[in-house]
Amino acid sequence: MTNTCECFEKCDLFDCATAKLPSTAKSFQDKYCRNDHGNCARYMIFKKLGRDFVPADLFPNERGRALTILDAT
Ligand code: SF4
Repeated sequence: MTNTCECFEKCDLFDCATAKLPSTAKSFQDKYCRNDHGNCARYMIFKKLGRDFVPADLFPNERGRALTILDAT
């Protein structure tokens, strides 16, 4: 059974992160994208506001920043 995030194939984060920080990108994928995407900051905004509202530079572990964005909307 898979628990891969529904955004995985088109998540903007990995276009740049994989190229610049491959080990960090892999770590995020293992922790969030293939496991606990409900706690990913990017996913939180995607689910509530939609893909267009996810900041390009938002990392999955920035839940506090995501909550601030959600509180402001
Ligand atoms: S970074 Fe977050 S939103 Fe993007 S694919 Fe991974 S879990 Fe989903």
